[in-house]
Amino acid sequence: MNPMREPTHTRCAISSCGWCDRDGLDCRFCSGTGWWRPERPHRDASGIIVWLRVDEPCRGCAGTGKEHSPTVAI
Ligand SMILES: [Zn+2]
Ligand SMILES: [Zn+2]
Repeated sequence: MNPMREPTHTRCAISSCGWCDRDGLDCRFCSGTGWWRPERPHRDASGIIVWLRVDEPCRGCAGTGKEHSPTVAI
């Protein structure tokens, strides 16, 4: 079972964001899903470190799934 996640936002917090106005450019961090799945270390009851996957809204695109490259001026 692997339900498709929808982007959490259609636009980011910037009111006139040139990246949000674009289409067809998926975020390189989350491949356009708006979510990323980092692994977090967690120490279980016996003291063993295990890695747990967590779902978080993508920070690269503010959950929009659209590429928001900060290195390119608009
Ligand atoms: Zn934006
Ligand atoms: Zn993203």
